[in-house]
Amino acid sequence: MRFIALGKNGQEIMTLNRRKAIRERCLNCVGWIPSEVRNCDFTWCALHPYRMGIGKQDATGRVAAIRKYCLQCCNDQPVEVRLCPCRDCSLYPYRKRRVDRSVEIKSEAKKTAYSGIFGDNN
Ligand code: SF4
Ligand code: SF4
Repeated sequence: MRFIALGKNGQEIMTLNRRKAIRERCLNCVGWIPSEVRNCDFTWCALHPYRMGIGKQDATGRVAAIRKYCLQCCNDQPVEVRLCPCRDCSLYPYRKRRVDRSVEIKSEAKKTAYSGIFGDNN
C-alpha cells in the first residue's frame, strides 16, 4: 500500500507491504542503521524473525507478529491499537488483522495533494 510514513528523512510517500513495513519499523527502531537491525538481539520482540525483510517468511506469522508488536506498543490494549494516532508509523495500515486503507494514497491526484501539504510540489 502506498501511504505517508516516517522515514529516515522525515515523512515520505512509501509503498510498503507488511514485509517492508516491518523492515521500515525496525530501521526506525535503531535509527536507520541497517547493521543494527541485523545485529538486534531483542529476540523477545515480535518483529525479530521478520526484521531483515528478506527470505521465505510465514505470512500468517508475520500478520500475527505485527498485531503482537502493536499490542505491546499500546500496553496490550486492543482499543488503543485501533485508535492509534500515529498514522505515519510504517505498521499503521497493518496494525489490525484487516488492512486499514484509510491512509492509502490511491491516485496521482491525491499524491499531488499530499505533496502540497508537505511542501513538495514537484
Ligand atoms: S526486532 Fe524489534 S527491537 Fe529489533 S530492531 Fe526490530 S523493532 Fe527494534
Ligand atoms: S501502528 Fe501504532 S500501535 Fe502499531 S507500532 Fe505503530 S504506533 Fe504502535
